[in-house]
Amino acid sequence: MKMEYRRLGTSGLKLSVLSFGSWVTFGSQLDDDLAMESMTAARDAGVNFFDNAESYGGGDSERIMGRVLANLGWARSSYVVSTKVFWGLSEQVNMSNTLNRKYLLQAVDGCLDRFGLDFVDLLFCHRSDPETPVEETVWAMHDIVSAGKALYWGTSEWPGEALIEAYEICDRHHLRRPTMEQPQYNLFNRARVEQEYRPIIERHGLGLTTWSPLASGQLSGKYLDGIPEGSRGALEGYEWLRSSLTDRGRNGKLRELKSIAAELDCTMAQLAIAWCARNPLVSTVITGASRPSQVVENMESLGVLSRLDDEIIVRIEAASS
Ligand code: NDP
Repeated sequence: MKMEYRRLGTSGLKLSVLSFGSWVTFGSQLDDDLAMESMTAARDAGVNFFDNAESYGGGDSERIMGRVLANLGWARSSYVVSTKVFWGLSEQVNMSNTLNRKYLLQAVDGCLDRFGLDFVDLLFCHRSDPETPVEETVWAMHDIVSAGKALYWGTSEWPGEALIEAYEICDRHHLRRPTMEQPQYNLFNRARVEQEYRPIIERHGLGLTTWSPLASGQLSGKYLDGIPEGSRGALEGYEWLRSSLTDRGRNGKLRELKSIAAELDCTMAQLAIAWCARNPLVSTVITGASRPSQVVENMESLGVLSRLDDEIIVRIEAASS
């Protein structure tokens, strides 16, 4: 199984089609040693992109990833690392739930400090901010990239119209345009990528780094008989996820997916991840794992890609919609 590297939209940057992110896990399920084992397993499979965010683990996720990268001693040119800013690390006015210039310029310095890096490759506005003009945010992101603190900037879950406004402002003022967006994309959540963003991707060359390919683990089938111990659904602080993880309608659909996976001789998780990666609009599928063995299993989705012919895709999509 050879890793495929895809361009991030129309940029020249190439990302492994499967990547690895640290949400929930770094700091709560994975300590430094397990994070190192997981990142090493991902890298061994060809992963070159590692996703993070300021808010993950209250800043600990960036600290752990930074220490792991330093300990592994990988050449800085050999990996792409991201972070995302918006929620902030305190509730202080101007420092949380905002994309104002003051926050953005200070937040990126905090991220670099926690990572122990001079720059991040990708910097995302983690959500949109209706209380800051898009123009103010675009100028701040342009300045951060111009200062060399991030190489490319993008958005996460921005409404399509805010993205279009950002492109218009960039074109008017010759500013650095958003290169990528980070939306949720999986068999249960398709509309934003396939409908809302498709025309923007086609017109502006936006790249997609998509998240939650397993819908927080549900598409692995692990919640078919309730919430297993040690799963995300059992974690304190993630009670809000439980009703969708155990939703009967959704889990009913999974039973058909389970038999398709059996026919293809793969696990449900591999089937769900390969389905995301099969979409050419997707530059990279950010996978997550609470243990290294899941990384190994998920990376083997690469071998399932070639088994997804048109007929199987029709069946998978009929089963999950
Ligand atoms: P998934 O939907 O793939 O869920 C990953 C979780 O599912 C794991 O932590 C693990 O949880 C479980 N799991 C993974 N593999 C398997 C397997 N083979 N068998 C059984 N269970 C499995 O992805 P995430 O929700 O973690 O999202 C991936 C990344 O996307 C994040 O790390 C983050 O970088 C990014 N992200 C970005 C967001 C944004 O707003 N921009 C939002 C959310 C994520 P467990 O074992 O504990 O059950």
